[in-house]
Amino acid sequence: MLRLLLCGFFFMGSMNIPAQENFASDVFKTAAGDLKITFIGHGSLLFAYQGRMIYVDPFGPLADFSRLPKANVIFVTHQHQDHFDAAAIESLRQENTQIFLSASCQPYPAAGRVLKNGDRVTAQGIDVTVVPAYNVVHKRDNGVPFHPSGEGNGYVFAFASLRIYVAGDTENIPEMAGLKDIAVAFLPMNLPYTMTPEMAAQAARAFKPRILYPYHFSSSDPRQLVELLKSDPGIEVRIRKMN
Ligand code: ZN
Ligand code: ZN
Repeated sequence: MLRLLLCGFFFMGSMNIPAQENFASDVFKTAAGDLKITFIGHGSLLFAYQGRMIYVDPFGPLADFSRLPKANVIFVTHQHQDHFDAAAIESLRQENTQIFLSASCQPYPAAGRVLKNGDRVTAQGIDVTVVPAYNVVHKRDNGVPFHPSGEGNGYVFAFASLRIYVAGDTENIPEMAGLKDIAVAFLPMNLPYTMTPEMAAQAARAFKPRILYPYHFSSSDPRQLVELLKSDPGIEVRIRKMN
């Protein structure tokens, strides 16, 4: 049952390990200041930009969110437990925190605003486009995809002209070919819920991000993705602790 609620996060005893507090991060220059991306783990990311803290899919078992900087904005891709965690959101929330979720996140916080595929929003000056995230191939035993089309969101964030794509839980869907000027992409890679390394490589070739972080990869080996994309020199695959 638990496995059905999640989409690939296996605790592997991690409940007994104190939440990590020192996370790796990478910094990118933009025309309007640095963007620091902190790799919290699995599907959880923190963007720090112009003094603002933007979280994606904060998930409690990965961190003591009460000890991390309070959020200005929180984006949730979909309702699965490893993405939508009301307690983690509550730990990060302050009076004016903006919270954006998919309609599938129920019950959503009173301050939450639902975003659907195709929506566009400006949050704290950051332009965000909502893109589809769904399965085509990988389905539950009853034939329903792990992530049905229209239910979950991917997000394209524009930090000045630096465009960051956080794919959410998806396969290599045809809509990815329409993504333009993606500098940095996060693509999920775990089975059976999202993509095989081959699917992730094919996805990346469809829109050619300059930098690709496999994330949400659970027990999949991200080095396979490096191997598959080694003859695509325009795409740099960076592995961080995002299992
Ligand atoms: Zn997931
Ligand atoms: Zn999911």
